[in-house]
Amino acid sequence: MNIDLIAGARPNFIKIAPLIDAIEQSKNNGFDIDYRLIHTGQHYDKNMSIRFFEQLNIPEPHINLGAGGGTQAEQAGAIMRGYEKVLLNKSTDLCVVVGDVNSTMACAIVARKMGVKVAHVEGGIRSGDMTMPEEINRIVTDSITNYFFTTTKLAGENLKKAGVNENAIFFVGNTMIDTLMKFKSSFRKPIFWDKLNLENQNYFLLTLHRPSNVDNENSLNNYLVEILKNTSDYPVIFPVHPRTKNTLNKIGFSNKRLFLTEPMGYLEFNYLTMNSKAVITDSGGITEETTLMGVPCLTLRDNTERPETVDIGTNELIGTNPEQLKLALTKILNSTWKKGGIPEKWDGNTAQRIVEILLKLG
Ligand code: UDP
Repeated sequence: MNIDLIAGARPNFIKIAPLIDAIEQSKNNGFDIDYRLIHTGQHYDKNMSIRFFEQLNIPEPHINLGAGGGTQAEQAGAIMRGYEKVLLNKSTDLCVVVGDVNSTMACAIVARKMGVKVAHVEGGIRSGDMTMPEEINRIVTDSITNYFFTTTKLAGENLKKAGVNENAIFFVGNTMIDTLMKFKSSFRKPIFWDKLNLENQNYFLLTLHRPSNVDNENSLNNYLVEILKNTSDYPVIFPVHPRTKNTLNKIGFSNKRLFLTEPMGYLEFNYLTMNSKAVITDSGGITEETTLMGVPCLTLRDNTERPETVDIGTNELIGTNPEQLKLALTKILNSTWKKGGIPEKWDGNTAQRIVEILLKLG
């Protein structure tokens, strides 16, 4: 069986790394399985792409579509044109897409139209928020997917409600957690750790990149003001996503407790997560990682496609109301944040389960 593994953006690299390991292992054990790694080029620079290949030991992609930059439609269009050429040149048995980025949707569409089956890793999760580009990507991808690998039972329920046959749904767990568990012992201090006198639980970690939070100058400014107002005298470490950098440059915000840095490597970023007092974020993947590590997480969104991180884990939806943020940060400062548990099958063996199922599906 020949598989195309599609990866385009930062969270994709983290999700495909264990799949590559599991495929390699099966191949070495004599099973008929092989893959082509296709990097769409959606994220392409050192901080958002190359460093993840180095740190997570992901092999060089077999093909790079070089489809970075541009608007949503320009990017999706470039990825579709690129992947269509790849399939015309040499087709495959199965196209595996992960997550919810433009690369996920664009390659799923191309594959299905060219008669190639599609498997979606992390299928079925829903925020219900159609203003999120990612939600549109999820719905479009799932509407043409053949095999769904889900992170929770709820994701499977969402799919069944949308009319998907339950035989096509496989509840396997979370490949992002596979990566976290594999690399946890290699997490390492970022270079500024000592310079900033960081210690376990004496700082906050902040990430923001959702268009609804960072494209508007007022909204970004208000968040930063409220966060700094309610974090006592603790430093706030803020690795700035490229999308956020544009707005941040325009507002020129600075504060002596706010430490801005480039997007970080996986090993350093998760060292910071693991040791932080709390993480404040609008990321999806980070809410899963904080849940696994038992670190308090405040999500600056009104909804989440990962409700298990709230119902079982350490995450809370704070929304966009500054009063809520103040209340939540007070709980952190008083050490009265809830303790969390770990969702079912988030055990580090998900990629292996997926490959075993793929081999059976033949
Ligand atoms: N991450 C990282 N460095 C950073 C910020 C995030 O390595 O500076 C990792 C983080 O550990 C998680 C992933 O990037 O594994 C989350 O990606 P992102 O927030 O961009 O995407 P989302 O999960 O919201 O789709």
